[in-house]
Order: sequence, then C-alpha cells, then structure tokens
Amino acid sequence: QPVLGILGGGQLARMLALAAAPLGVNTLVVDSAADACAGQVAPLRLADWTDYATLEKFAAEVDVVTFDFENVPAETAHWLAERVQVFPDPRALAVAQDRLAEKTLFRECGLETPAFHAVDTREDLDRALASIGAPAILKTRRLGYDGKGQFRIKQLADADAAWAALGAQATAHGLILEAFVPFERELSVLAVRARNGDFRIWPLTQNWHTDGVLSLSLAPAPKVNALQQRAEELARILAERLGYVGVFALELFVKDGQLLGNEMAPRVHNSGHWTIEGAIASQFENHVRAVLGLPLGDTSARGFSVMFNWIGELPDAAPVLRATDGHWHDYGKQSRPGRKVGHATVCAQDAATLAARIGDVARALTREEQAMPAVRLLAD
Ligand code: ATP
Ligand code: MG
Ligand code: MG
Repeated sequence: QPVLGILGGGQLARMLALAAAPLGVNTLVVDSAADACAGQVAPLRLADWTDYATLEKFAAEVDVVTFDFENVPAETAHWLAERVQVFPDPRALAVAQDRLAEKTLFRECGLETPAFHAVDTREDLDRALASIGAPAILKTRRLGYDGKGQFRIKQLADADAAWAALGAQATAHGLILEAFVPFERELSVLAVRARNGDFRIWPLTQNWHTDGVLSLSLAPAPKVNALQQRAEELARILAERLGYVGVFALELFVKDGQLLGNEMAPRVHNSGHWTIEGAIASQFENHVRAVLGLPLGDTSARGFSVMFNWIGELPDAAPVLRATDGHWHDYGKQSRPGRKVGHATVCAQDAATLAARIGDVARALTREEQAMPAVRLLAD
C-alpha cells in the first residue's frame, strides 16, 4: 500500500487520512504540536520544522509528501523534495506563503486584486496610505491565518496604531497594505490538478467571515452566472503557471460583478469541507487521487450544501444529527477562543428544502444569526 506523508497534523490532515483509507492509501502525519488532532491517525512528532533527523525517518517511510499546512518552511519542503516526491511543488508553496508574491502572480495571470503596496518601513506605510487611501488593511506578508496579523485602517489617522500593532513584524515577515474592498460577496473556488494535467473545479462556494474567520459557506453559490467559467479559467491559468498538483483554493471578492483575488491556499481548504457530503468526489479524495497520480473524481455537487464552522467551542451536536442529511464533524481539539474545533454540513436536493433545514438547525442551536445570510440567499 502506498504511504502518503502529510506535513502538519490538523483537521485537514485528519480529513485527508480519512479520505485516503478507502483508496488503499496509508498516511503518516508529522507535526511539532503536541495536540495535533490528526495525531489520532498516525503521529510522528517533530521538535520543529528543521528536525531533519525525524524528517529523514519520515521521508524514508512515505511515497509521496503533501501539506496540511502551508507555512512549512520553504527549506524544509525543498529538502524533502530532494528525497521524495512532494506535491504541490515547494515553489507553489513559496508563492502562497507571501501575500506580495501571490498578488503579483494573480495580476500576471489576469486576475485583478485589491490595490496593494509592499511596506517595509514606517515611511513606506505613509507612502502606501497616500496612494491607496483609507479604508485599507495592513497585513503581514507571511504566516497570517484566520485574520491574524492584520490591522484595519479606517482612517488615515490610524496609521500610528497600525504601525504599533504590526511594525515590529516588518523586518522579519514584511508587510503589505491593501485597499479595503467593499465587496458584494465573497466566493472561493476549489480546484484540483492531476499529475497528468487534468484540471477540474467544484462549483463556486459563497463564504461569510466573522472577525476574519470563516463562519459559513454555501455551495453552489447561487446566481454566479459567468463567474463560474471565469473562475475556472483563472484557476487553470494559475495552476498551469505553477505546475500545480493537488487541490488548492482561491479566495475571491466580487466587486461590481468582477472577481478580485484575495489569496490562495495551496492545500485543501475550509470553504471546501461541504464537498465531503455535498459533492460526488470531495476535495480530500481528489487531493489524494491527484498527488498519487490516480484519475480525478467528479467535482459536481449532489444538491445544495451549507457548512457551519464551529469556532472556539462545539455547540450541541443533536440538532445537526437529527436533521435530514445533516453531518457532524468534531475535530477532537481542545476548546480555545478563535480556534476551529469542528464543522457541520447540511445538504438538500433543492434550495428551499435546505433553507428550511438549516433554519431549523440554527434555531435549535440559537445560531440564527450565523445561518441568516445563507437562509436569505437560498430563499431568494
Ligand atoms: P485565512 O484563514 O482565510 O487564511 P487570512 O488570515 O489569510 O485568512 P485574509 O483571507 O487575508 O486572512 O482575510 C480574512 C478575511 O478578511 C477575508 O476573507 C475578508 O472577509 C476580509 N478581508 C481581507 N482582506 C480584505 C480586503 N482587502 N478588503 C475587504 N475585506 C478583506
Ligand atoms: Mg490566508
Ligand atoms: Mg483568507
């Protein structure tokens, strides 16, 4: 049986391992965190990402390496790639690790982005603000996730506060100032490219964030019309440009009906969790198939799906378990404010039935507010 090595042992690794098993693929996970939730599947503890002694053992035991975590240091990924096949290629990882490189590549591929400027010094910040104006967002170029490492500048006078919050990280990670986009909606496209170049995307997903963290996803995103085809073209250009193998996500804003690129995740993505029950082949299954050189599965949706993200702590599972076509995912992680500890997906054949189902679940959990945006769109 082939062994798939996974760098990073969070819930994404866990769901990859669960999808790999029926394909006859074993998994070996490495992480440096003592409480990595995929440790329940197959643990190999690293002291840190430069623990080459353990990585040597890991490389010897696996056939292909992939990522649950995009911030594996580029040197570690390159070191592994000299010993074993690594997908996606560490070069793609390097681009996605740096918001400046990522947005520059988007533009080269024909995907517009919010206006942006690199910021390395306080003077750069003033210059960038003068050019972009307020509102804007200052972000670390590297290592940010779930809205961490970001400061929202509402007016020009917030520059001092922004620098106080993030200036110390300018030297180590670099910063980027982006125009704040008053978008109409937020979408993501999940895409997969096989080793032989086969390329597919799932139907566009609409997403809602709370405090910078994904809260709710609805798929297929209603009324996207020509955006589905446009997103597919752009994702394909990007994937081919990077020689990408595996699943990736492109986070998009829709402004004046046009797509703007926010960021890419070089891995399976939270906004694609609905594909486990809501698509013929899930993002996890297709990622495993892609990196092992197997044929890709069908990315069509079975009907409509809504995914609730559980942040900080899990609510009562019973209302989801009682719902028709309701599915519960407990990552087995300890509760902690802001931490993703689980999700639930509710599916239905048609939009009206799904609106009713998630309305019932949300009421029982007193999460009406979380569900509201999707209920409204589905009922429309
Ligand atoms: P993730 O967990 O998705 O990796 P992240 O920390 O990398 O998150 P972003 O995706 O850059 O952060 O931002 C989080 C959310 O904040 C976005 O999904 C969007 O809702 C909002 N946001 C980020 N940048 C902008 C922008 N330039 N204009 C408007 N909203 C933005
Ligand atoms: Mg991100
Ligand atoms: Mg994001």
